[in-house]
Amino acid sequence: MLILVNLVLVKKEKERTCLECHEKLHGRRDQKFCSDYCRNTYNNKLNEDANASVRRVNSILRKNRRIIAKLNPSGKCTVHTIDLAELGFNFHYFTNIYTTKKGLKYFFCYDMGYRAVEDQEYLLVHKQDYVK
Ligand SMILES: [Zn+2]
Repeated sequence: MLILVNLVLVKKEKERTCLECHEKLHGRRDQKFCSDYCRNTYNNKLNEDANASVRRVNSILRKNRRIIAKLNPSGKCTVHTIDLAELGFNFHYFTNIYTTKKGLKYFFCYDMGYRAVEDQEYLLVHKQDYVK
């Protein structure tokens, strides 16, 4: 009886194929690739995607930082949303948030920050003034 049950389980096991080339696998049950070549190719592709995504976010953050620095050479000034938007500022990306004791929230892109002051107005700052 036990033998029969085992046979059924073996038959039900899904056919395994190489994650890279989709060739049928014949090795151990935890085998994922048919060869080192396929394993390397597969992993390199994964890393490329991850690197591309990191590069994309970094470039948005650096651009945001450049925009704040450009609009705020003196270290403190107020600008309109349009000033930021015109230069391609992306409000979805920042490196950190600093909240003051009074509960004011500054958003930073590295060392350049901003805080909403009034409707459509932003105060731009340099980090050293607020965060040690
Ligand atoms: Zn393969």
